Amino acid sequence: MAKALAIHGGEKAVRSDPGDAFTWPIITEEDEQAVLEVLRRGGMSGVDVTQQFEKDFAQWHSMEYALGCSSGTAALQSAMWACGVRIGDEIIAPSLTYWASALPAFSLQATMVFADIDPNTACIDPGDIEHRITERTKAIVPVHYWGHPADMDPIMEIAKKHDLKVIEDVSHAHGGLYKGRLVGTIGHVGAMSVMSGKSLAVGEGGMLLTNDRQIWERCIAWGHYGRTRATQWTGESEAPVITDPELTPYVGLPWGGYKYRMHQLSSAVGRVQLTHYRDRMEEIQAAMNYFWDLLSDVPGVREHRPPMGSGSTMGGWYAAHGLYEAEELGGLPLSKFAEAVRAEGTTCSPGANFPMHLHPLLNEADIYGHGKPTRIASSDRDLRQGEGSLPVTEAMPGRCYSIPWFKHYRPEIIEQHALAYRKVAENAEALLED
Ligand SMILES: *Cc1c(COP(=O)(O)O)cnc(C)c1O
Repeated sequence: MAKALAIHGGEKAVRSDPGDAFTWPIITEEDEQAVLEVLRRGGMSGVDVTQQFEKDFAQWHSMEYALGCSSGTAALQSAMWACGVRIGDEIIAPSLTYWASALPAFSLQATMVFADIDPNTACIDPGDIEHRITERTKAIVPVHYWGHPADMDPIMEIAKKHDLKVIEDVSHAHGGLYKGRLVGTIGHVGAMSVMSGKSLAVGEGGMLLTNDRQIWERCIAWGHYGRTRATQWTGESEAPVITDPELTPYVGLPWGGYKYRMHQLSSAVGRVQLTHYRDRMEEIQAAMNYFWDLLSDVPGVREHRPPMGSGSTMGGWYAAHGLYEAEELGGLPLSKFAEAVRAEGTTCSPGANFPMHLHPLLNEADIYGHGKPTRIASSDRDLRQGEGSLPVTEAMPGRCYSIPWFKHYRPEIIEQHALAYRKVAENAEALLED
């Protein structure tokens, strides 16, 4: 049995200074040089570095087309429009995610219907999608939440059956695999943030990936006016970027009235980060998998990762979380468990994103002056979802907690942090008495 808990005056499980174990992103002189090069020649608003970044990114994913954007939000909104989301249309998305997975639908005069999540993956539950499809549904937006790949095979099957587009939100899972395939390459389009908090961290920015020329052209036409007149290749062949006859009459102005060009200080960092990302991601995976391996026999705590041997991985483990089973610890409330774990010197914050379907902006706000809530402004039915409508989603914030996000495989550090969790779980009875 472990010694007295730190919260009761015992020695802390975590004794070593973590050093740079958690530092992210990893910035070296190479990143600095790349930024200075752009800065000194005044290339901040150009597209040459961004196009190189797009090429690198597409190549990594073996995809035809990539498009750098000013943010992940911009990428997602562009993808929705490019997938045909128009006035009164519906997208189906999880409610438990960063808002940009769904909220941009409002700006297209469209709306969203939320599906529940799977209690183990925390990603959209494929079994809860089909009954929500109507004639207005245009797209499904699975999110690879906290790095865990969503169950894409059944989602793609449903989409095919109902002629829907699938927009993967890859903001948490760059480089992650679903049954051996890179996430972002499975849906009709992958859209993601590469802002500096994410696992592929380049600054403010977003990226789109697709093999569908029409989607790519529409995304350019939507928010990249400067590229609509451009040619695709420089060299002997000069095919124009915009070839879709629906789009060609309008080149020169953006359909969206938006300007979504990526800042080239971001794309310069992005190119450098990308050359190291796979190695760094593998080290993160080794570290995080070791952390969970150490806890596999500990009651109350449950790993959030795909089973070994499934061919699926967690990418860079962005926003790494664990799941909690209070009944295995005599009903100890998560808040008490987490407080004791933190007292041992590690990370353990309960909670997740606020479920969007319960937020008043999704239920009450009249954003565009329709005289009724924007959520139902162009609908012929009230598709708002009240408390109790998505039980797994609503329970999740009360049964999950952040865990330390190791960037380096340093067993002695990881062991101390894992011990913090083990010690508290094994002494849960002492906490129940408090
Ligand atoms: C961060 C994030 C976004 C939005 O990206 P920004 O670059 O911040 O606009 C979208 N979806 C998810 C799931 C995110 O975590």
